[in-house]
Amino acid sequence: MPSVFDNLVGQEHIIDILQSAAVASRNGAETQEMTHAWLFTGPPGSGRSSAAVAFAQALICPKNGCGTCSDCNAAKTSGHSDVEIIRTEGLSIKVEEIRELLTRVAWAPSLSSWRVVVMEDADRLTESAANALLKAIEEPGTRTVWLLCAPTLHDVLPTIRSRCRHLQLRTPSIAAVTQVLINRDQISPEMAQFAARTSQGHIGRARFLATNETARSNRKTIMQLPMKLGSLASALEAAQTLVDIATTEANAASETRDEVEIEKLQEAYGKGSSGRGMATGGSKALKELEKEQKSRATRMVRDSIDVALLDLATFYRDVMLVQSGSMDSLINSDSSAEIEKCALGPREDSSTQKLEVIMQARAQLAMNTAPLATVEALMCRLAQP
Ligand SMILES: [Zn+2]
Repeated sequence: MPSVFDNLVGQEHIIDILQSAAVASRNGAETQEMTHAWLFTGPPGSGRSSAAVAFAQALICPKNGCGTCSDCNAAKTSGHSDVEIIRTEGLSIKVEEIRELLTRVAWAPSLSSWRVVVMEDADRLTESAANALLKAIEEPGTRTVWLLCAPTLHDVLPTIRSRCRHLQLRTPSIAAVTQVLINRDQISPEMAQFAARTSQGHIGRARFLATNETARSNRKTIMQLPMKLGSLASALEAAQTLVDIATTEANAASETRDEVEIEKLQEAYGKGSSGRGMATGGSKALKELEKEQKSRATRMVRDSIDVALLDLATFYRDVMLVQSGSMDSLINSDSSAEIEKCALGPREDSSTQKLEVIMQARAQLAMNTAPLATVEALMCRLAQP
């Protein structure tokens, strides 16, 4: 029988737990298997929010997550009255947003045994927002189930994580990602393998690379940057190239989304009929939406730069591998000529250092440093022998 859990790649170790919890939850009471607060952690791309959404579907579906009924379908798109999926657009989730959410979910579930809230970025809760949420999680006897997602346990306040049942997702194997791309997305085996290997188990990124030629050529450009780091001027130029590519990629993704959202909002306020709706309240809502979109765009550019830096890190990882005498299991076998050339240069410990400075730059970007300046400083350090 098909199930919502079929789409979770490489996560067999948690599927049993979620399935028995969904079955045990049928009577709407807490049992040993079923609890009302869960925390899904896992590296980016491991599918922590997909796992949480699948569990939400299983909790409200009469067949514990068939994946085909109207409840399952509605829950997936946040269109179910008992399921709310919180996707963060900004850099943080503020206390006002949590208070609003708590008012919305204060009602008993309307159709199902549970009301389910999936919070995709619980690591972005501000401290006061987390404390407001904590009160709700601590409240006994409510019929609300909280499914929080975060990269690691340390990204969530200890007070919150101690009240959640924790599930750790794994990075799916390259073979598992390859299979999904072939079977589910009808991608050729060769392309699937390339995309899975270069994205290192990040399913979303793998699918994007496999289906998008521009993304592949952008990636190629980034992988050639290490060969171009001769002088200070060329290092600065390389930084500009990386930031430009990442920005264009991020903007392309957010523009389409922005337009759809604005159109929906205008429809909701009756644009095209008398036009009066847009004048009262509508224009205020539009301004708020545009502000949210702007902050999401900033975040998407940062995320996109981070992906480019990770790609760059795999280049130096491969150089290290070659320097230690191994040509097997190169991540970037499509750039093996460049990697070998680079490996002839400085010694192994210099490649290790380069990997380290890339990781430092990523950490700095995560703390909101100015993107271009951070990448420029990085490229200057990478340019040193
Ligand atoms: Zn169903």
